[in-house]
Amino acid sequence: MSGLATFIDVVIPIAIPNLLTYRVPRELEGHVQFGQRVVVQLGRSKLYTAVVHRVHDQPPQAYEAKYIESLLDEVPIVTKKQMRLWEWMAEYYMCTLGEVLGSALPSSLKLASETKIVAHPDIEELDASSLTDREFLLMEALELRKVLEIAEVAEILEIKTVQPIIKSLIEKGFATTEEELKHRYKPKTEERLSLHPRLENEDLLSEVFDQLEKRARKQSELLLCYLRERETQGDSIGKVALQKMAGVDSTVAKKLIEKEVFVSETVEIDRIGPFTGEHQQIKDLSDDQQRALQEIKDHYEDKDVVLLHGVTGSGKTEVYVKLIEECIARGEQVLYLLPEIALTTQLIQRLQKYFGDQIGVFHSKFNQQERAETWKRTMSAEANSYSIIMGARSSVFLPFRKLGLVIVDEEHESSFKQYDPAPRYNGRDAGVVLGMLHKAKVLLGSATPSIESYFNTTEGRYGLVEMKHRFGGVVLPEILTANIRKELQRKTMKSHFTSFLLEEMKEALERDEQIILFQNRRGYSPFWQCHTCGWVPECDRCDVSLTYHKHVHHLNCHYCGYTSSPPLKCQACGSHDLRSVGFGTEKIEEDLKELFPEARVARMDLDTTRSKNAYQNILRSFDLHEIDILVGTQMVTKGLDFERVSLVGVLNADQMLKFPDFRAYERAFQLMTQVAGRAGRKHKRGKVIIQTYDPEHWVIHQVIDNDYDAMYRREVIERKEYKYPPHTRLIKLNMRHRNEGFLRASAHELAAQLRQHLGDRVVGPEAPYVARINNQYHQNILLKVERTASPAQFKKVLQDTIDNFRQDKEKRAIRFVPDVDPA
Ligand code: ADP
Ligand code: ZN
Ligand code: ZN
Repeated sequence: MSGLATFIDVVIPIAIPNLLTYRVPRELEGHVQFGQRVVVQLGRSKLYTAVVHRVHDQPPQAYEAKYIESLLDEVPIVTKKQMRLWEWMAEYYMCTLGEVLGSALPSSLKLASETKIVAHPDIEELDASSLTDREFLLMEALELRKVLEIAEVAEILEIKTVQPIIKSLIEKGFATTEEELKHRYKPKTEERLSLHPRLENEDLLSEVFDQLEKRARKQSELLLCYLRERETQGDSIGKVALQKMAGVDSTVAKKLIEKEVFVSETVEIDRIGPFTGEHQQIKDLSDDQQRALQEIKDHYEDKDVVLLHGVTGSGKTEVYVKLIEECIARGEQVLYLLPEIALTTQLIQRLQKYFGDQIGVFHSKFNQQERAETWKRTMSAEANSYSIIMGARSSVFLPFRKLGLVIVDEEHESSFKQYDPAPRYNGRDAGVVLGMLHKAKVLLGSATPSIESYFNTTEGRYGLVEMKHRFGGVVLPEILTANIRKELQRKTMKSHFTSFLLEEMKEALERDEQIILFQNRRGYSPFWQCHTCGWVPECDRCDVSLTYHKHVHHLNCHYCGYTSSPPLKCQACGSHDLRSVGFGTEKIEEDLKELFPEARVARMDLDTTRSKNAYQNILRSFDLHEIDILVGTQMVTKGLDFERVSLVGVLNADQMLKFPDFRAYERAFQLMTQVAGRAGRKHKRGKVIIQTYDPEHWVIHQVIDNDYDAMYRREVIERKEYKYPPHTRLIKLNMRHRNEGFLRASAHELAAQLRQHLGDRVVGPEAPYVARINNQYHQNILLKVERTASPAQFKKVLQDTIDNFRQDKEKRAIRFVPDVDPA
């Protein structure tokens, strides 16, 4: 065997620690390069799509390299910078590069053995003559069997490597993946109408029109509608849209095509759809915005990251817009990261008005084909390429050509962090690293910055720019407290409402103004309880009470998804007096219907926004003032911008303040400040009422004074004492096993071993608040690693200790889940 054979190291998108080496067959030598996808076999029969990491000529030492099965791409679909980000992520967040790749690649780009293939629903319209024999054979099998796994395809075709054939069938539009079809199929073509060339002659056109008007009114209406729309839309107009406008059915267009008035053509449409809304001029900045913009640029002279701390409504977005405009004028791309994209459609639409089709939107609600398309349009330098990507955290995985600016909006949001599965990364922090790899500038924006980011400005790592006033002289809302304790003593509470809040609500409603009520999500689930002895039904598989959902009269476990109907008889005392108890948003909504029977009330939480457009629908109704009072969880604190909201109520501040988490005060401050920012945005000063047992609590004082700095200073001292971030980094090691005693003993043993190396940086083990989920017990060990030390070194100790620990056969059944910088 010649020593000069070509080998490649590949990344397979699954959790295996090492890169694997494969051999390139003679005929492909010289064609395989970094960033292309290849199909490789792993184990006996499994085939995977892998990405080439390195091409070399060294055979592996420990095993005989297999040949790759096939090469899928002619050009790389992954860039070097992407790979460097992924490698950083694997290292930093303690997972495998394969796991990162698994998250990063849209699934239509990584067919695996288990992928299920189905015939495409648009198949009728396609011309099968373009298919090769094998493709044709596969098509026939698909039409017969409906669904085929890739492994089955191999059997049918009697060849091993079927990925290229499947890929080609998918590209030609004959097949798709089952996942795709089930969840997100959208037609890819559209029928469009244009005027028959013979009617270019205007006299003839008006003759035809006159005839139609006399004998076929509907046809004349459709033609008229077409002629009107042509003025703005151009010659070719979508048939369905036109029919709708003219109010006619499809037989009308058919007749006009027969009469040679229209010609019809079927065109491929961009799945993502061109932007069709109105365009808007970018706004001129106010003096304060201009100053902020200049300060940002000044910082960029010697810093890569700037934190823009601006109160809600200060006009941060317009400052971003100016920076974006300048960046794309230089021919560079912009990544605009948003915490929960579904909640930010208003913002996306706002930017689309400025930048139109230059914006690509990317998040998990898009289907795989759309994501693959965005991938391509981010990477390509062609005319349709994207200059701006607005997206959720997963947009950091895209193949940017030349990134010039990364904006992280609402940078303090904990939803930037991915909990499950690995990589458990923070989109903000990954965005900063991505910016560094591209030598791009990074702008973090927030009205309530995270303690970590603010700390970085005080240490000089990040620049700090502040905007302390709302745009257009709008004043910040007046914030008042309502004392729950006192009202309880005076017996003036009605259900969960103080008389003070009720009075203000009544007045706002009388003035025909809107109200937002905020109820923190955590710990407020309503439950089902025996009124005689207090028994509460719990989940069989988890250590939690089941949550009661009134609208469906069902009990549900929020951890494992178990559902059941509420028992009619108490399992403890046998009483039949069971009822729902609690203080969820659902309960509040109910109370409101009694307290304000006239008012139109809506609720916005995870339950009411589960279906696809539910969130948008609630927002639209609220915007149209079809709703007077909106009750919601965290969701209502997000960037909503409504004119008529004059009153915001925080129903119980104490629940946030008492939460057992070192970030509780920071979070409480952020949540209350953000929700307060929804009051009185344009016309008049808004009012915020915070209900609490403890109006003198220092966090509430800082919220009232809108004094972030004071909150920060106090927090940062407190955290130093207890060795919490920003002074340290946390690594949480979660361990899971079915046997509680065994797990606890093992966790103690591991913690002791870790302590030998890391001393009192090791805290625990401790059972988490919910100690059993889906019949798996949990134990957590926490590492507090000082900022000044290299985290890599500690992670290595941790990993080595775990690996060593797992030498023991019994302990191998324990699952270890490290979480770096847990949220
Ligand atoms: P933030 O992002 O800081 O919460 P926004 O950018 O949403 O603030 O601005 C608040 C409001 O002020 C918005 O309604 C926005 O349209 C308006 N606004 C901000 N800057 C300008 C400007 N330069 N000219 C006109 N209107 C502006
Ligand atoms: Zn009972
Ligand atoms: Zn459960």
